[in-house]
Amino acid sequence: MNGESKTNTNNTHKSKASHSKHLPVLVCTLLAAAALTVGAVSRARSGSDTQKAITDGSSSSSLCASQDSSGAKEQEPVTTSATTAAENTQTEIKTRPSHLEAAKPAAVTAAHKTEVKNGITYVDGILIANKTYSLPQSYAPGLDAQAQAAFCNMQQAAAADGIELWICSGYRSYSYQKKLYDNYVIADGKEEADRYSARPGHSEHQTGLAIDVNEPSDEFNDTPAARWLAAHCNEYGFIIRYKPGKESSTGYMAESWHIRYLGDPELCKKIEASGLSLEEYLGITSKYRN
Ligand SMILES: [Zn+2]
Repeated sequence: MNGESKTNTNNTHKSKASHSKHLPVLVCTLLAAAALTVGAVSRARSGSDTQKAITDGSSSSSLCASQDSSGAKEQEPVTTSATTAAENTQTEIKTRPSHLEAAKPAAVTAAHKTEVKNGITYVDGILIANKTYSLPQSYAPGLDAQAQAAFCNMQQAAAADGIELWICSGYRSYSYQKKLYDNYVIADGKEEADRYSARPGHSEHQTGLAIDVNEPSDEFNDTPAARWLAAHCNEYGFIIRYKPGKESSTGYMAESWHIRYLGDPELCKKIEASGLSLEEYLGITSKYRN
């Protein structure tokens, strides 16, 4: 989500459907072009040819086979900068009851703790970037090292099942997201672009904790890889972030390829079992103010 995906399953909109069909090429071309500009397209050193990652140059490509010193700088955990910066700024903590208290399962009946550190919002310790909660322009952690390691483990497990997974897009900077979003607004108008692309500062990819797997388009839906990902990503600490029927809470159309690293497999399984989006689970919104 939040940038490179352009999908539409509504066949009544033929122009959109047609656009969607060509999206993978468009997207990859767009991403690749931007990445090439800053020299950040690379391949796995011992992986398959298709195992590649495209980033915006602020972080190295996130490849399982490249976890060496050359990528160390970019693989700093997101928590490093947040923790360090927190020492110099005030932390705002507030606890509020979930508005879903009466109607939802026990998982969301408890009060949720919201903290804001250096302009970054954490709800129950989970870093949130959506339409309501933005990230500072300066926040540029690169792909989270733990998320990358978890993806690599998942990738190996998938391979053992005959499924190939790779990172199409991981970390994206504020400025790169701005380019993507601005282009989509030009192509589709702001209202439509807001359904599938995040405004700069609102992309979950800027957190370094989100990954688009394989092909960021509806072409990925219902593929063996998509089914494997949906069935197993929880085991590695990821959730499918934007599910069908959840646009009103997440703010985005469904994306079977966009996974979010939460770290704790048990938490992921709990959220999955609840049938709730992350927003619903945490009792938060995802809406732009304007
Ligand atoms: Zn995404």
